Amino acid sequence: MTRHIAVIGAGMAGLSAASLLGRAGFSVTVFEKSRGLGGRMATRRAGELRFDHGAQYFTARGPGFQAEVARWRAAGAVREWFEGGYVGAPSMNAPATDLANGLSVTTGRTVTRLSLSAGRWSVSDAEGPVEALGNGAYEAAILAVPAPQALPLAASAGVALPGLERAVYAPCWALMLGFASAAALAGDRHKPDDDMIGWIARNSAKPGRDAWAETIVAHAGPAWSRTHLEWAPEAAQDALLARFRRLTGVQDAPAYASAHRWRFALVEQALGEPCLWDEASGLGACGDWALGPRVEAAFDSGQAMAARALAALGVAP
Ligand SMILES: Cc1cc2nc3c(=O)[nH]c(=O)nc-3n(C[C@H](O)[C@H](O)[C@H](O)COP(=O)(O)OP(=O)(O)OC[C@H]3O[C@@H](n4cnc5c(N)ncnc54)[C@H](O)[C@@H]3O)c2cc1C
Repeated sequence: MTRHIAVIGAGMAGLSAASLLGRAGFSVTVFEKSRGLGGRMATRRAGELRFDHGAQYFTARGPGFQAEVARWRAAGAVREWFEGGYVGAPSMNAPATDLANGLSVTTGRTVTRLSLSAGRWSVSDAEGPVEALGNGAYEAAILAVPAPQALPLAASAGVALPGLERAVYAPCWALMLGFASAAALAGDRHKPDDDMIGWIARNSAKPGRDAWAETIVAHAGPAWSRTHLEWAPEAAQDALLARFRRLTGVQDAPAYASAHRWRFALVEQALGEPCLWDEASGLGACGDWALGPRVEAAFDSGQAMAARALAALGVAP
């Protein structure tokens, strides 16, 4: 008999958990509010330009993630940008797409409610139960979204997951600039000593990107992003572009400019436990908020979540 599990969120944590549960024999349905996979491992498309405007690169410190990165590299889904610094290829979410292979993924649906009836979970959005494989028959439900977004979902289910409320995120304003020709920015990665911009990267210098156009991503630091969190994107863009020019000396007019606000960007205070699990209901939660502000931490949290759920459901990983 097919056994079903629901995962909410198709970022690294959710897909890490989902792929392990799928390999253990469960039918896993992943619900994602965006159109694409990968969450903050994101690539913005603007015409023919592409920007990695979320995670810039990732490292692999532990043996589990190192093995996964080696597998992605062999499959061409990950390439090394600099020694020990990896990127998805051709875009940042390629590892997420790889993990989603063989899973049922429902995109473009924002989950607003989870409910448990006779030991089985149902998943709803604002319009009611989502039509998706196994809905109403999930033996476990896993929240793989930023902790502040997991809290209302756990509450909708009437389940407390103590610890979720302790995680703290810093926001981040991201500036994306596209130039028709080389913009004379020296070097590929900069961490300016500045009270506004904390990171500048030549996106087009990453392996597997479009070398014909110069694309640049700059991230505002947490303090400036927090103070200006509610600014309109146009205002943030103008302010960041002016500072970018001052810091780099690049004066060319960009052919494309845009600013994106990440409300929950980098974990400032992590839980310090790999995941949360409510034994009585079969509701779990995982994400970077559990272990730290890194892609690897999200992956590890997802693996721990799947192992915990499998143990509770009486299945060997
Ligand atoms: C600007 C920025 C720079 C960063 N730089 C780096 C870096 O250089 N190196 C590094 O290692 N890490 C970096 N990170 C952090 C890294 O991206 C994250 O730690 C990691 O990707 C988090 O994965 P996750 O699965 O926990 O969460 P997410 O990637 O946020 O995934 C959660 C998913 O859940 C979905 N979702 C949320 N609510 C709902 C709902 N109600 N219904 C359905 N779906 C929902 C979201 O759309 C999202 O796809 C950066 C992040 C940002 C934003």
